[in-house]
Amino acid sequence: MGDDIKAATDALRALLAGMRRGVAFTGAGISTECGIPDFRSPGGLWTRNRPIDFQTFLARRDMRAEAWRRRFAMEEAFGAARPGRGHRALARLMREGRLAGIVTQNIDGLHQASGVAAADVVELHGNTTYATCLDCGERHELDWVRARFEASGEAPDCRDCGGPVKSATISFGQPMPAAPMARAGELTAACDVFLAIGSSLVVWPAAGFPVQARRNGARLVIINREPTELDELAELVIHADIGDVLEAATGG
Ligand code: NAD
Ligand code: ZN
Repeated sequence: MGDDIKAATDALRALLAGMRRGVAFTGAGISTECGIPDFRSPGGLWTRNRPIDFQTFLARRDMRAEAWRRRFAMEEAFGAARPGRGHRALARLMREGRLAGIVTQNIDGLHQASGVAAADVVELHGNTTYATCLDCGERHELDWVRARFEASGEAPDCRDCGGPVKSATISFGQPMPAAPMARAGELTAACDVFLAIGSSLVVWPAAGFPVQARRNGARLVIINREPTELDELAELVIHADIGDVLEAATGG
């Protein structure tokens, strides 16, 4: 670890020691060490496939099948992933009562897998580890979807109502989920420290939360390998590896 990063990590440790109702806001960068690629790094998912937006998913059966083909191609990464050092550090801060909650853009379920109660994880973009019917809301397990997809090559319809079944994630063009957005807003309004971790902070409205936190007078920390859109708003910016920094700053 370089000298400047060591100094920044020391500053972070001091700041975390005084944190009472912090919010950790996480993006894909916290899960890259777990084998799940992010979107916008060179070689990230984004650079390989243009995402299928919500209207296209609804309108075209062939694109629904394509969405499932891509999802199952990712299963090796999502299915095998275990929480990393960043997830474990945040779970420690939750246990110590320093964090009030974790707001995540991730869809991988790794915060819950690290031992944080599901009620303390706010998922802004849903969860890719199961599927729901867009018409009636019925939950479908991925094994069920996969068996039908592999047998027919087609996207399966809901076993109850025949509606379209979609991974329980939020696609571009799909409305943001109301309850998680409200909860994230409440946590942000009440926090003393806001930790933005592993997000390029370009996807709105999610990227509005660090801005809101700053406006409310919270201390803003950004930890990300590359510069983000909001670096100039933050009191402390650490451009380094998330696992290294959080492990060092939380005494893991
Ligand atoms: P992003 O890909 O836009 O940004 C991730 C950032 O993390 C990048 O700036 C990168 O430099 C940084 N990063 C990657 N590995 C790092 C490491 N080890 N240490 C420090 N920094 C690191 O991700 P985003 O802002 O979360 O937006 C992508 C959207 O795509 C999310 O909203 C999410 O829904 C979805 N997504 C989720 C996952 C997941 O669940 N793990 C993975 C890919 C994409
Ligand atoms: Zn249904």
